Amino acid sequence: MVKQSRDDPFVIKQNKSLSENDVHRKLDAAEGISWLEVVDITTYDFPYINHLLQLAYDDWCSEMPSLPEPYHAEWFITDHKGEVINREQQLSWSVNEGERSFLTEAVESCLLEGEISVVLGSHAEVCIATPILTRESRETFAVLVCVISGVDDSVLSFAKFMISSAANSFRTSFYKRFETIFVTDLLEMGKQAEREEQRRSILFRVVQSLHDKIDVDSVLTEVFDIIAGLYPEAQIQLLMSQDHHSRDPRVKSLQLHGQDHLCVRAFMEGRMLRLDTVSIHKEPSIEMAVPLIGKQGVYGVFHLIMKSTEIEEVDLELVSMLAGTAGSAFENAKLYEQSNLLVTELRLINELTKRLNQSLRLKEVFKFATEELLTIFKAEYCCITQIDKESSHFEIMSCNVPAMSKEYYPKDYGFSGLVYSTREPIILSDYKAYGKVTSQLMELTGSRSLIVAPLIVRGEVNGSIMLAHRNESFFSYENYKLLQILSPHIGLAIANASLHAEVRRMANRDMLTELYARHYLDDSIQEFQKKDEGGALIIVDIDKFKQINDTFGHQTGDKILKQVCSIIKTSVRKTDVAARWGGEELAVYLPGANVHSGYQLAEIIRLRVAMETNPSVTVSCGIAEWNRASEKISVESLFYSADMALYKAKNNGRNQAQISLSS
Ligand code: GH3
Ligand code: MG
Ligand code: MG
Repeated sequence: MVKQSRDDPFVIKQNKSLSENDVHRKLDAAEGISWLEVVDITTYDFPYINHLLQLAYDDWCSEMPSLPEPYHAEWFITDHKGEVINREQQLSWSVNEGERSFLTEAVESCLLEGEISVVLGSHAEVCIATPILTRESRETFAVLVCVISGVDDSVLSFAKFMISSAANSFRTSFYKRFETIFVTDLLEMGKQAEREEQRRSILFRVVQSLHDKIDVDSVLTEVFDIIAGLYPEAQIQLLMSQDHHSRDPRVKSLQLHGQDHLCVRAFMEGRMLRLDTVSIHKEPSIEMAVPLIGKQGVYGVFHLIMKSTEIEEVDLELVSMLAGTAGSAFENAKLYEQSNLLVTELRLINELTKRLNQSLRLKEVFKFATEELLTIFKAEYCCITQIDKESSHFEIMSCNVPAMSKEYYPKDYGFSGLVYSTREPIILSDYKAYGKVTSQLMELTGSRSLIVAPLIVRGEVNGSIMLAHRNESFFSYENYKLLQILSPHIGLAIANASLHAEVRRMANRDMLTELYARHYLDDSIQEFQKKDEGGALIIVDIDKFKQINDTFGHQTGDKILKQVCSIIKTSVRKTDVAARWGGEELAVYLPGANVHSGYQLAEIIRLRVAMETNPSVTVSCGIAEWNRASEKISVESLFYSADMALYKAKNNGRNQAQISLSS
């Protein structure tokens, strides 16, 4: 081929200034055009020149001059070293040693002198060798040789003239060939440069536009559009290794178990792979797998199939560069998306914890959490359960399905049971299709999508959060992860509220007997007296307790006191308030009750104490009541009346209940 050097200033100059039309115009201007003279053919490979000589010889043969009869001419052409080019040309006479030397002599002399040389043969033939000169430096680069048989002096000068004009015409043929090829090369180089320019500008545009994009989907769409624009016939798809939901149907997920697939290999090896195949239409095709690589890893693989004729080797490089740019743009967009997500998550956590911590009341915390979760996840149903330590069952603490509230479930029931045993969150796209776990929440609401997270407090599963929706595949993987992030905060808020409730409970309780403290009873009665129509109070006093202490010691005395309190606790209704009023004086307030109900309860307590305590003791009870019609409604007067009744019981011989006279 023609020597092509990118460094050749001439070539570059020509590329820049020549359009295809210019070249044709110059060619039409025929020979003698000086602009091509600047090209020295000696800068070309000689085998190539020889090839051109052969082509020019073939062209020229059609115009070869003929000699008048009876003369007969044979032609051949040699290169600049005197080697015959058209070897297949059969000279019509046999060439013996002698004849060869006369031909050689003519060629050598012509090459040496750079002029036409005439050598006579031994059989009245003459060999005329004419140099073919370059146009610029006038060097001999070929020799046109003519052998004429039976020639005499009279035709020799005519023959010489004819041959030199033949040489001119041969040179023209040669230069025509040379110029055509040279120009073709130039045009080809021009096109090549244009294509390269185009590639560079595409790459530049791609880099610019891709880095302008900050959302992952736009980056991918842009890459698809660019490749589809470059290779409209190509089949292209992107196989993503991660769970990536795209609106683009050309984005699919990469199945890593197809180990031998080109795309899987390209993904594993992190480099572009190609395969020459044959399409279903039996056309030679190229299959390419180009990984989408960022700094932190490989995200997927572009899979392209196109006809071999549509793509050049350099294009493969371009595609690979495109994928590289796309990879880093994708990564940037992904990181941006992740950081946005993180910011949103942090904001959510902040908001949620702020709202949850606004209240330390357990009920309110559950209510808040349910409301917030429904809003954040756009779920239809939310259910928060907690394990009741005493019954070891899941108790529904908050649920927006009225039929579900106040329900209890065994520890191994439903999805709460599953997260309790595995401690792992759950995401379910279709409850119906899953069928392995029965859930009342899902059944009652006809939900299909579910996310569940365990509520872990101090390292222990304390309950669960369930979010459901009737549509299938409603929750995304991001939702699932977000719930996982939020649930410890909710767990913490619940734990804080529980702890606070416990402290409150303790503050209102008497440590020894676990009954309410006196101030709590006082406050409660005061509250009841504000809104109720009436109520009854029983004061219980252990008989001769001093003696018991003296006989059995204080420790046993305490034990008996606890036994009496336990009897009271298990005898009263849930709404009654039982308290330790003084040392061994206990009190029960019965909201809305009268002295008769009070008396009944006092009797139950009295009889049980006599029977169940060990060492056995008895108690005396004083009962009083108040109602709206009472003259004076106060805690003090109620206690005073009950105390009076107690005094009466003591005086009456103890182990009895007395109703206050003023009641
Ligand atoms: P009665 O009430 O029948 O008139 O005789 P009593 O001996 O019970 O007399 P009183 O109620 O006046 O005495 C209270 C006694 O109860 C005084 C004290 O020794 C005892 N006591 C009060 N609080 C406690 C306590 O927390 N533990 C023990 N072991 N004894 C207590
Ligand atoms: Mg007593
Ligand atoms: Mg007493």
